[in-house]
Amino acid sequence: LDSLVRTVDSHPSETADGTPVSLLLNAGLSADTEISLNHLADGVGLYRTEIPFMLQDSFPSEWEQTARYRGILETYRHRPVCMRTLDIGGDKPLPYFPIVEENPFLGWRGIRITLDHPELFLVQLKAMLRASEGLDNLAIMLPMISSVSEIKAARRLLDQAWREVSDEAQSRGAEIRYPSLGVMIEVPSALYILPEIAPLTDFWSVGSNDLTQYLLAVDRNNARVANIYDAFHPAVIRALQLLVDAAHHYQKPISVCGELAGDPVGVLLLLAMGYRRFSMNTHNIARIKYMLRQSHLDELALLMKTGLKHDNPHVLRGLFARYLEEHG
Ligand code: PEP
Ligand code: MG
Repeated sequence: LDSLVRTVDSHPSETADGTPVSLLLNAGLSADTEISLNHLADGVGLYRTEIPFMLQDSFPSEWEQTARYRGILETYRHRPVCMRTLDIGGDKPLPYFPIVEENPFLGWRGIRITLDHPELFLVQLKAMLRASEGLDNLAIMLPMISSVSEIKAARRLLDQAWREVSDEAQSRGAEIRYPSLGVMIEVPSALYILPEIAPLTDFWSVGSNDLTQYLLAVDRNNARVANIYDAFHPAVIRALQLLVDAAHHYQKPISVCGELAGDPVGVLLLLAMGYRRFSMNTHNIARIKYMLRQSHLDELALLMKTGLKHDNPHVLRGLFARYLEEHG
C-alpha cells in the first residue's frame, strides 16, 4: 500500500480524461478518536460525531467537544471538514442514553433526537462553532432529514448558537464564521421534497447505506436479508441518478458518503451517473484514486447505458466489475 500511496500521491485526483474528482475522508467510524491527516484526502466529507460519544460513559461536556472538534479542524486546516450532528439511535446506541423501541430504525434516530433535546443539540453546535474560531473550514451536516420542518428547526438552533458564540468571540476581538449547512439525503421522503430542501441548504451528501436500507426495506445489518440489500437495485440506481441531476439543477454540491463511495465498483457507477465527490474510509482513498486515474468517463457512460437496458443489478454490477478488472 505504501508504494501505491507514493505512486498516486504526486498526481492530481482526476479521471484519465482530466475531470477533477474530490476524495474525502469518512472519519470516526472505527475506534480512531484521534483523526490523523490523510495527505491524499481533499478534506473530511463525513465526521461521525456520535462515535466519540459512544466511547464515553456520559455525555461529553461542551469543552471536551470543543477540544476534539478543534483538533480535527486544525488537522485539516484549509480543507473542508463536514461535521455531522449527533446521529444516535438505530444501530448506534449510547450506553448512558438507553432507547427501548420495537423498531429502532424507524424510531427515534438522528435529527429527531437532537430536535427533541435542543439542550444537547445547542451544546454540540456551540462546541463546533467555538472550535472553528479563526478557521474557515467548518461545515455542519444534519442526519436523517425526512422533512423540511426539521431543517428549519435545526437552522433556528444553529442561528441561536452562532449568535451566542459569535457575540462572545467579538467581545474578545475574535471572529466566528457562520458555517455552511448541509443535509444527509438518506431517507426516501427527502427525494421528493428536493425543491423545498434546496433553498434551505448549502450542500447535500447521499447516505447510500440508509438510503438503500429504506428504499428496499432491508435492515442493513441483518445477514438473513443481506442478499436483498443491493445498491445496484434499479430503484436505488434511479434514486441516485435523480439526486445527482437535481443537485446540478439546483447548483448544490453533492457527495456520496455511504459505503458505496469507498467501493471501487460503486465509484465507477457513481462517476457514470455524474457524481464527482466521494467520501470514504481512510484505507480506501489510495486505491480509489489510483482507479480513478485509469477511468474514462465516456466509457463509463456507455457502460451505464448498456447496463440500464437490462434492469438487472447483477448485469450492471458485472459490467462495472469487468471494467475495474481491465483498468484497475
Ligand atoms: C449512510 O447512511 O450512508 C451514512 C453515511 O451514515 P451512517 O452509515 O453513519 O448511518
Ligand atoms: Mg445514515
